[in-house]
Amino acid sequence: MVIGENIHGDRTFFGDNWPNRAHNWFPCVDHPSDKATVEYIIKAPNHYQVIANGYQVEETNVTANLKQYHWKTSVPLPTKVMVIGIAQFAVQNIGETHHVPVSTWVYPQTKEKGFYDFSIAKKVLSFFIENIGEYPYRKLANVQSKTRFGGMENASAIFYFENSVTGEQKYEDLIAHEIVHQWFGNSASEIDWPHIWLSEGFATYLTDLYVLENKGSATFHKRMQNERTTVLNFFKRTQTPVVDAKTTNYMELLNANSYQKGAWVLHMLRNKLGDETFWKGIRMYYQKYKFKNASTVDFKQVMAKVSGKKLDIFFEQWLYKTGHPILKTNWIYHNNKVRLIVDQTQEAPFEFPLDIEMLYDDGTSEVKTINVLGKSAPFVIETNGTVKDINLDPNIQLLFEMDSN
Ligand SMILES: [Zn+2]
Repeated sequence: MVIGENIHGDRTFFGDNWPNRAHNWFPCVDHPSDKATVEYIIKAPNHYQVIANGYQVEETNVTANLKQYHWKTSVPLPTKVMVIGIAQFAVQNIGETHHVPVSTWVYPQTKEKGFYDFSIAKKVLSFFIENIGEYPYRKLANVQSKTRFGGMENASAIFYFENSVTGEQKYEDLIAHEIVHQWFGNSASEIDWPHIWLSEGFATYLTDLYVLENKGSATFHKRMQNERTTVLNFFKRTQTPVVDAKTTNYMELLNANSYQKGAWVLHMLRNKLGDETFWKGIRMYYQKYKFKNASTVDFKQVMAKVSGKKLDIFFEQWLYKTGHPILKTNWIYHNNKVRLIVDQTQEAPFEFPLDIEMLYDDGTSEVKTINVLGKSAPFVIETNGTVKDINLDPNIQLLFEMDSN
């Protein structure tokens, strides 16, 4: 429970539990697999407002300057997202979408900016309800707070860092990320910390897909490229798999493997299964594990079932092993054929489809897909013109890097 002055010098109280700090302010088994319903009965001086998970049952004047609040959830939550927030707030109800009331709770000193910043939440919430399924809670409140994180996805009362209020709607993707967590992380939760990519990878990639829908494919490709660069840079420093059972400092799991590589695994899975099957699988996985817990294998089984594809190698190489393909290529063009050798210079070879863009001398181009299976593989690709250059992975679909030697 963070008790202290906010940026305006006002006294505030905010729960900030992630990963397992809830037991510092209420007794609990502080683990995502031990979910419970929760209710809070809070007495606070009149000049405060009180926000919490769930829905408000009561607000009573106890004395001339003291009120009692009662908030309650009807569905079980993991302790990491059970919070209350007490501060002087300006509160704006911005209406409902799909019968879910959405509200903004910001410091009154900059309320116009804050109300404007968080007014986009309704549109974001609609997108995810329409694509994932029914929203798990009775309301959505976006709250300016003293969380130590950029955003903290507390169930139905998301806390954002104090300077997220800018009056410029600068944090639409942060809002989207935290809203995705209401389904993935809060409702369908990882069974244990090594599977945290089921929260963070999902929140990252479904935000990317929200951006694809709203900003178009050029912006989306740029994001995927940046996320890939983050993964490759992280790997230079830390060689751990995404499903990491060895790291016991959970704060260290808030890393590029859980976020960006998790997102990239979903990206490659979507390319492998197709957009429609991918979303169908995401919806099925959510329906099966809502208000429950899931492991990486549970997710794999749902996606294998919905697609009718074997996904064991895919999950094994991308999530349980470290690293990614590091490629070296050699090619020659002769007589409407490209002869290409693809070498994987990292230790264990991966299996993956690889798009090759043929750049013809007349200025046109064509994309062909090859299936890379072993350490070193030769390919003969028929072409429709004279090839003057080739370009690997033109549509940003593979997590890989080029061998710098
Ligand atoms: Zn997150």
